[in-house]
Amino acid sequence: MKIGLVTCASMLDQVRQIVPLIPKDQFVIYPVLPCCLFAISGDTIRNQVDKSVLANEATIIIYGACHPELNGLLDMYCDSNIRKIEGNNCWEMLLGPEQVEKYLNQNSWLGNKAFLTKWNKEISESFGYDTRNGKVASSCGIKELTVFRFENPQPDEKIVKREAASAGLPYSIHDESLEHLRNLIQAAVDKVHIENESRITLGLSPKPELIPISLLETMREIIYIIDKPGKEVTFISPIIEKLLSITTKEFKLTFLSTQNKGGYLYKKRTQIISKRSNFIADCLQRGFEDPLKLEYQIINGKGECRWIRETLSPQFKADGSIGAFAGRLEDITEWKITEQQLIDLYQNEASLRHELETQIQNRIEFTRALVHELKTPLTPIMAASDTLSSGLKQEPWLNLAQNINKGALNLNKRIDELLDLARGEIGVLQIKKIPIDCIELSSDIIQYVDAKVRKANLRLVFEHDDKTIFIEADPDRLRQVLLNLLSNAIKYTPEPGLIKLRCFRTLTDVVFQIIDSGIGISSSDRAYLFEPYHRLERDRERFDGMGLGLALSKRFVELHGGKIWVENANEHGSIFTFTIPILISVKPVYLKPSLKNKGKLYETVVN
Ligand code: ADP
Repeated sequence: MKIGLVTCASMLDQVRQIVPLIPKDQFVIYPVLPCCLFAISGDTIRNQVDKSVLANEATIIIYGACHPELNGLLDMYCDSNIRKIEGNNCWEMLLGPEQVEKYLNQNSWLGNKAFLTKWNKEISESFGYDTRNGKVASSCGIKELTVFRFENPQPDEKIVKREAASAGLPYSIHDESLEHLRNLIQAAVDKVHIENESRITLGLSPKPELIPISLLETMREIIYIIDKPGKEVTFISPIIEKLLSITTKEFKLTFLSTQNKGGYLYKKRTQIISKRSNFIADCLQRGFEDPLKLEYQIINGKGECRWIRETLSPQFKADGSIGAFAGRLEDITEWKITEQQLIDLYQNEASLRHELETQIQNRIEFTRALVHELKTPLTPIMAASDTLSSGLKQEPWLNLAQNINKGALNLNKRIDELLDLARGEIGVLQIKKIPIDCIELSSDIIQYVDAKVRKANLRLVFEHDDKTIFIEADPDRLRQVLLNLLSNAIKYTPEPGLIKLRCFRTLTDVVFQIIDSGIGISSSDRAYLFEPYHRLERDRERFDGMGLGLALSKRFVELHGGKIWVENANEHGSIFTFTIPILISVKPVYLKPSLKNKGKLYETVVN
């Protein structure tokens, strides 16, 4: 049998001498530094135990209970064939507890070869033996340095003598046999043999499949192994106790048997257990099977309900047959909670969206109906008032007819704005781009507002660097934006004011600016200016309008890929700026004329 010996390095030589004396078995020694001399963590021991457990059929621990984590650590290797030899420390292992007690009662300071050779300094210091001040050991009540000869080469008497002298102690050297340690190791070897045989009699494989504990401890998943012949859990990561507060025993008891009542399984207990058993049976019958995936709730040791995801799959041997089954348990509670929250949020969002869509739809229907109802009677009013205005010569009838026509046109404009807004809201507002000259379009609009400007006793200046600036845009919509901004400038600029329309080109855009010397807009109002139906408090009574012009302008500019914003003019008044990107495709065709005129300022003045 292959046996690993995890041995305290202070007894390494003795163990090496004993091993050849034990027949039949094959031994591999895994030394561990003595924790009485060096600060070693539980992981250091665990690392060596892992190595031995993985490589051997059994492991024997030849280490005192001096390390505080040792016993707890060994409990974790629940199913591996591990034995610790008796004895709380190396002296008890070497001499037996009675002998040790006898020497301690005589106030002896026990030493062996290691004590007198390379670790001499460390050992002396660790026991408070200060060579500079001397005699510390004797002042602590120690009466003698007692050295044992267990092995060859034996401790050099000269060194013993020198050490004893510098500690101010007498010394004695005793010849001791390795009988006691050998008996302890032999007893442990016998026990691991018995354990091995009992596994074989039970039909279990002599060495359960093991995964190093240190590796499992760092994982957030719990691994378990089911032995194929016995169909029992032969291994479960000890971390289950930490992660789920379920003991390994409890887990095993209720894992495959519905007989044992209680346990950690919560809802669907019987189904889960039989699903596992049926899966194993099916796999064994068919020789293969896709992994079994389960999701269920458990009650952990703290009484909390947790969600578990379990995956169980067959493990194949080199010859292709199933050797065992390996499973994985994951605590997916947080994930489930988040998933549920997402579902709730989604449902909430879906019902809100539905509500909103209905509201929008109702509004669209209403606006459509309103537009239809208003436009139908308005069309004949516009036509009739227009005919009357051109036919009538006499006052006050002419003035009255003109007023009706003006009112009808105004109403028609408002209805169009409402319709565009409704179109924008449902996303059917579209633009039809064609190559247009911005200078020509601007001049045209200036002509159009000319009468209005004159009537308001204002001056309108058109500034532009180039004679032509071609872009691809929707002329009707661009016209609407310019007209709206210019109309506002005229509306909100008291006489005798100045309005400027500037049009120039940057590398990427055509920029339009409408600058007025009017009443201006406060910074708090500027934030909401482009929202539908937003009108300034101060203008509500004084001017007509619905607060849709700027909202629509913004929508049109953005449909062209541009931006619109407002700033305060230097002294008083506002500057409305919007940009329309110049499309590369139209550049080569129309760039030349503008380059020719670069640098020149063209100004058209209307007053
Ligand atoms: P309206 O049809 O009411 O003019 P707009 O959307 O065009 O709607 O404008 C919204 C509000 O912004 C106006 O009611 C007015 O208070 C303000 N406003 C627009 N342009 C100017 C401007 N050039 N100077 C001062 N205030 C302006």
